[in-house]
Order: sequence, then structure tokens, then C-alpha cells
Amino acid sequence: MPADAASDVRIHHRACNLCEAICGLEIRVAGDEILSIRPDDADPLSLGHICPKAVALKDLYEDGDRLRRPIRRTESGWQEMAWEEAFDLVADRLCSIVEQHGGDAVANYLGNPTVHNYGGLTHGPRFLGTIKTKNRFSATSVDQLPHQLLAYWMYGHQLLVPIADIDRTDYLLILGANPMASNGSLMTVPAFPKRLKALQARGGRMVVLDPRRSETAEVADEHLFIRPGTDAAFLAGLLKIIDNENLGHPGKLAAMEDGLEVALADIGALDLDKLAAHCGIKVETIQRIAREFAAAPRAAAYGRMGVSTQQHGTLCQWLIQLLNIVTGNLDREGGAMFTRPAVDLVDNPTSRPGSFGRWKSRVRGLPEFGGELPVAALAEEILTAGEGQVRALITVAGNPVLSTPNGTQLDRALDSLAFMVAVDFYLNETTRHADVILPPTCTLEHDHYDLIFHTFAVRNTARYSEALFERPADARHDWEIFEALGDRIAKRLGAKRAPHPRPDQVIDMGLRIGPYGGMKKHPLNLSLAALKAAPHGVDLGALEPCLPERLANPGKFILCAPPEMIAALAVFASELDDAQPAALSLIGRRHVRSNNSWMHNSQRLVKGPVRNHLLMHPDDLAAHGLADGAMVRVASRVGAVDVIVEASDSMLPGVVSLPHGWGHDRSGTRIGIAEAHAGVSPNDLTDELRLDAVCGNAALNGVPVTVVAA
Ligand code: SF4
Repeated sequence: MPADAASDVRIHHRACNLCEAICGLEIRVAGDEILSIRPDDADPLSLGHICPKAVALKDLYEDGDRLRRPIRRTESGWQEMAWEEAFDLVADRLCSIVEQHGGDAVANYLGNPTVHNYGGLTHGPRFLGTIKTKNRFSATSVDQLPHQLLAYWMYGHQLLVPIADIDRTDYLLILGANPMASNGSLMTVPAFPKRLKALQARGGRMVVLDPRRSETAEVADEHLFIRPGTDAAFLAGLLKIIDNENLGHPGKLAAMEDGLEVALADIGALDLDKLAAHCGIKVETIQRIAREFAAAPRAAAYGRMGVSTQQHGTLCQWLIQLLNIVTGNLDREGGAMFTRPAVDLVDNPTSRPGSFGRWKSRVRGLPEFGGELPVAALAEEILTAGEGQVRALITVAGNPVLSTPNGTQLDRALDSLAFMVAVDFYLNETTRHADVILPPTCTLEHDHYDLIFHTFAVRNTARYSEALFERPADARHDWEIFEALGDRIAKRLGAKRAPHPRPDQVIDMGLRIGPYGGMKKHPLNLSLAALKAAPHGVDLGALEPCLPERLANPGKFILCAPPEMIAALAVFASELDDAQPAALSLIGRRHVRSNNSWMHNSQRLVKGPVRNHLLMHPDDLAAHGLADGAMVRVASRVGAVDVIVEASDSMLPGVVSLPHGWGHDRSGTRIGIAEAHAGVSPNDLTDELRLDAVCGNAALNGVPVTVVAA
């Protein structure tokens, strides 16, 4: 770490791991005081961009509410305990339950930050694997499950998710995503505003479909309001028109696709007028967008949370893939392309291509994907008595009470557990139910290599971040916690356990055997040492065409007509005739100063105008006899919340919006700033029974609600 010549100020460079954008940071410190956090202008991916959350890394590091040592629940409240004692206690309680009731009695839940900390990825599964349980859950099934499932079905690997090549495209079609606020999701696109300006400056267009005129819609060349949950109708309409008018030109993809004709025939049988009526977009507009997309020299379609977390989420993602394929834009510069990350989790001996339906949840029969069950089933698996009932839970960096459907029900379920342990450094709405909380080091106290988000980035780069601060002597990294628990549990349960390298050693090996490593005889000869010598990161170039070689299906085909999708299309078609839109439906929204539930204990991120009000169109307010700024009660099948309503003509009439991750008013937490800015949780309204029927992903968007004066 270089030092400022005139003082003892040290300058540290690292990647921000708070969200998917992995922006480069320059942090100045004196002793253990953080003086400033600024963009690293030399980062080849983030191009000098950061967002306000980056500066809150200082707050996270200094947060007095952040747990530093294990705590256990006692009759007189939470008490600190020594690490070894905590490990012994947790292992003993978990093993006792396994011995008495079997492995399925112990469930686990991995929260979203798990994929932002490489120790969680290199060592988390190894620890959790010591208890053989089918009850594994994660944030995947309230998020990106449809993307991964389609990638597995169509391209042969759950991580082969095509990424919109924003830096070279001429036409970017975005559905249900807000990268102006998020800087991309399953499309790591830091500096999105800058990249969009470049797209528009070279004559390109961005068209956005969203039930809300989001921050991204505001800067789009065209924004189309679309009714929640109807994107599949719009997408099917595009495909039908492209096929009818012979605008498709798959080019080289024709030689590697299988089933495109079958898929297009079924889509072609749909009635265009009905599709248009369903999504609320005129036939002529769908025709124009279809022709524009097909005629653009380079185009990419991309859909995210708004289309993933709805009842037809997997269908939408399939139609998006087909749109890119039929127009020849898959694997084309400026289209939707595959990355080639330095640690390649696709082409790797430890690679997990995916799996689907190997088992089902006990109570409702929801299908497994990638070894996990849909989290919408977690509460009922705890609350429903019988063989295989979940009696203990391990959570890792997760707050499912706020982030999964019907959080109130889950709250109740967690209260009934025989034992719960949380690996987390906050006493939050979920971990307050734990018997023991094991807090890992915070992000600036450990090193990092982003295993996942380089895989979804708009440019191939690699960056390793050293720890900024020495961890305190009595602190443990997440992977050390996993190892300590895993060793004890394996010993007690008689499971075999081989020694395992540290995370940095795993990465070093991954780099060496990766596409830019010495073992592939690549001139860059990438290794951990090489990355350590390049503190701003290494630029590995723009995305490059790589099909069919990179396909992981046997025979290296693009499987365009998975039977499950053909069946889902038929179900969708049958619903078109009598689909009645709810009088009001609820959608989420994202803000640049917030990220799920875990950055609300920073004063600098929550200060200023309240951002978690209910947004409602002025016409809807008038129709409901409500006034702007009134306290209203929003209710759904599962519950109700009271919240201030704000008139906003950014909303499509008939749609209201609440951001998720809020609802910090539950008692017994220790997150003072978040509690003072509590907001309400939309997941007290989302319904664990409203799912994407294909895979069990939660349908968090488009929830029917009523709104009345509170
Ligand atoms: S956009 Fe994400 S990665 Fe970039 S600075 Fe903000 S929080 Fe960090």
C-alpha cells in the first residue's frame, strides 16, 4: 500500500463488494482512521465510478452496533462468549438434532452477501455439506433463479448467463431493471450512466419497459409503461412479429440451435391482439419495437428483478433468450455475450453445472434447483409437524424475515425453532431469533476476490483486494468460522473431511488453471501474485464470441425449447383469455442509497428525504379518496402495513410501489440507525403462495393489494 509522501496517510486500492458492480475504490487512511473513499480512476471495469454506498464502508467498519464477538441468548439477555465455547455449543446443538431427527431437520439459508464475500463461497458449502440435508435455501429463489435455470437448460451451465454488451450495442431493450440505481444486476455494469451516454452518443437507443418511470426509464430514449407480470405477453408479441415478418436472422447460431422452430411455432400460435391487451401496449408499438430490435446492427435484450420475480419469471427469461437468438444477437459483439472470467467457474474441475427437480420440498412439493429449495417453503417446513420437519436453522449473512415472501409468517416460524445459529455481524430482524450469533470480520478486515460478479460483468477484468486493516486478534473470518464448525460437526457425525486450502489459495489455483493462467499457457500467466502486483486490477478485454465452444450441453447445442418452457407457454396462453388485472398491484423499487436490508444502519445512507413511502398515481389516490402524504393501510392476502402514501405520476395507474429491505421496527434488534428509519417491509405483503410455477421462485412483483386510509 503506497504512503502519501507528506504524511503517514496510506492509500489503499480495492474493489467495493457491497453490490454487484464491484467498483474500484481508493481509500485513504491514517492509522485505523478512514479519511476518504473515492473512485479508483484506474480500475478498468468501473471507469472511475462509485455510488454513495461506497463511502458507507467507513460506517460499516466503525459501526458500534456491528457485533465483534460471538453472543448467545440467555434468560438475562444476550451475552458475549468465547469463540471456542461458541463453536462447541453450536456443533453440539446441531449434531444432537441431527442424531435425534436426521439431517433434514437442520435447514440452512444463505443470504445475498454470501456471494459478495469469497470466503463464503470457497468454504460455506463445505461446512454446510457436513450436515446432509435437503432443506437448503438461499436468496436465489427470491431473485435470479429463472436466469440460472434457463442458463442450465439452454446453455448447459447455470452460470452461462448472457450479458448485454452495453459498450458496443446499438439497441438496448431493458425490462424490469433499474441499472441507474443498481449499476446492474446479473449484468455487472459499473458507471452505467457513463456507458449509457456513450451508447446514445454513438447513435444507439435504450428502450425501457417498467410499470414505473424509474431512474433508468427517465434517461431512456423511450419508456413504455407495462402492467406488472405481463412482460411475457410483450416479449411473445415481439417474437411472433419477428417470425411472421421474417425479420429473424440467427446467422451462425442456426448451426448450433436445437428447437427454435418448435418454440417459435408455439409462440406464433398466440393471438397478437390478446397479447397486446394483456400487457397494455398497443399492437403497433410492439410491431415497431420488434422491427427496430431486429433491424439494429447490434441489439441486446435484458430483463431483471421486475421480470424475474413474477409468476411468469422463467417464461420471460426464456423469451428474452429467444429474442437475442432469433435476431442473431447472442454471442455477437454488441449483443448478449458470455464472459470469460479469470477464475472460470464454468470451465473448472469443481464446476457445478446445475440440477433441477432432484427432490421436492416436503410440504408443498416445490422443486430443488442447484441443491436448494425455494425459500417460499421455508416457513411451512418449520411450522408443519411430521417426519423431516425443520427444527434447527443455520443462517449465513441473511435476513429472510425482510427479504422473503410473508416475512411475518417466517418471523413466527423462526420463533418456534429448537435451535438457530446465525453467521452475521448484525442483530437484525432475522438473527434476533438465533440462540447464538457468530460475527465474521467485516469487509475491510479481509481480503477479497470477486468470484461471481466477474462472471457477469460487461468486460473481462480481474482484481484482488488485500485486507485494509488487520483484523482484531479475537476476530474470525467467515471461512474460519465455517472450518471450525465443520471440523467439529464432521468429527461428531463421523464424516470424512480432507484438509482444504485457504480462500486465497483457492483463488490462486483458480487463476492458474483459468483461461489467462500459466497452465493454459496464456501469456498473462495470471496468478494471485500477478494480481497482487496490479492493485487497480487487470484488464482482460471486451467480451468475445465463444460459441459453440463455451456451451456446456452435451453436443454443444443451444437448447431453445426446454419442455418445461413449452408447457409454461401453454399455461400462459390459456390464462390470456380470462386474466383479470387486480385493481391495485404492488411492485418493488430500488434506490442507489440502499441495497436490500443491509445498508440501513449507516446515517449517511438513510438521512435526507424519506425514500420508503408508498408511491401511487394521483388518479388512483383520487379514486380511493386519499390525499398525498396520508397514512394508508396496504393489505394483501397475507397481511397489512401502514405507510405514508406519496402521489407520483411516475407510477402506472393501478400499480403501487414499496422498496424492499425496510421494516426495521421489529423489537429485539440492535441496529439503532435502521430502527430510527424503520419503514415497512413489502414482504409483510408478498405472498408465499404466489410463485413462478416453473421453479418456485417468489413472485414478489404484481402482488394484489388494497389501499385504504389508515
Ligand atoms: S455501485 Fe455498488 S460496487 Fe459500486 S461503489 Fe456503489 S455499492 Fe460499491
